Amino acid sequence: MGTAALILGKDNVRMIDSSGRKLDYLRISVTDRCNLNCVYCMPEKERENRAGDYMTDQEIFLAAEAMAELGVRHIRITGGEPLVRRDCWKLVGGLKALPGIETVTMTTNGVLLAKHLKKLKESGIDGLNISLDTRDRACYQKITGQDEAETVEQAIRLACAMNIPVKINAVSYDFAQDRMGGNRKETEPWWLSAASLAQELPVDVRFIEMMPLGYGKKFPTVSHQQLLKELEQFFPGMKPDRRCHGQGPAVYYQVPGFKGSLGLISAIHEKFCSRCNRMRLTAQGFLKPCLAYPDGVDLRPLLKREKKEELKEAVRKAASIKPSAHCFENPQEMREQRNMIEIGG
Ligand code: SAM
Ligand code: SF4
Repeated sequence: MGTAALILGKDNVRMIDSSGRKLDYLRISVTDRCNLNCVYCMPEKERENRAGDYMTDQEIFLAAEAMAELGVRHIRITGGEPLVRRDCWKLVGGLKALPGIETVTMTTNGVLLAKHLKKLKESGIDGLNISLDTRDRACYQKITGQDEAETVEQAIRLACAMNIPVKINAVSYDFAQDRMGGNRKETEPWWLSAASLAQELPVDVRFIEMMPLGYGKKFPTVSHQQLLKELEQFFPGMKPDRRCHGQGPAVYYQVPGFKGSLGLISAIHEKFCSRCNRMRLTAQGFLKPCLAYPDGVDLRPLLKREKKEELKEAVRKAASIKPSAHCFENPQEMREQRNMIEIGG
């Protein structure tokens, strides 16, 4: 275990962990409820097991303010499904108004997005990551439990039309193996319908290796070394895209004729922990410095007592125990029992 140094400069506050990483990115889960039941995240039987007792808006702002004072510059709102939280859009404006915060983005399954887009845009949202593993209706329904693929696709098109930067998240998992292939032709690769969105729209479609958290353990990831080979064969002329696409770990590729890029987030087969800049706050106010381990610091009592200086000390403590790398490749080392929906993916 190391210590998190706080480097103070004239206009520059930064939190550097013991591995030399700058921690400037916070993912805030605002609920652990969801309107979908993705098989790898929250299958139907988990629906009743929600913890509740979510941070209030004021507690979220206080946590973010304390962390902005320690150098956090970018915030992503996630969940569960953030848009099932009442007036979730209000969080965007409130977080953006905090001194030091440069971007506020959201990850959503997109089902309720269309009706919230206007308010999100007016609140200054800097980008949306919208999850859509497949555009095949039957296959989407098997994965998520709901027939909403077209609703999500419409919301994606609407967000693009409103000039909100959009990225698509698709989990790398060959659905056909579990007879979840839907109407997809046997010969069609599992990734094609999601990837083709980047042909039609100016969106980055990113494939994310399935991580062995909670129900995700039951659905082994497709290796991205394998996926890259398949993509290169299918799209001759595909080449690395070195333009900056944001704060995250995705590696991007350009395909001739595509409006957007394809991205690979290869948490298992190409660990990017040495570049990890993030911490995660659960909907109940537990600050996790690493996705893979259960360790962290419970900020909730301090949030309730509105103790900002003590909060900052607690944040520094969490940063100081950030491990140098995850352990997803060693299942015997996995101590985290939470599901992705309880952490905030
Ligand atoms: N409900 C929102 C959504 O689906 O976009 C936000 C929360 S969800 C947990 C965030 C992202 O995590 C989604 O893109 C989802 O596909 C992804 N995810 C869920 N479980 C995962 C797992 N075991 N491994 C990798 N990604 C996962
Ligand atoms: Fe809900 Fe997102 Fe989890 Fe699917 S991945 S169950 S949409 S929180």
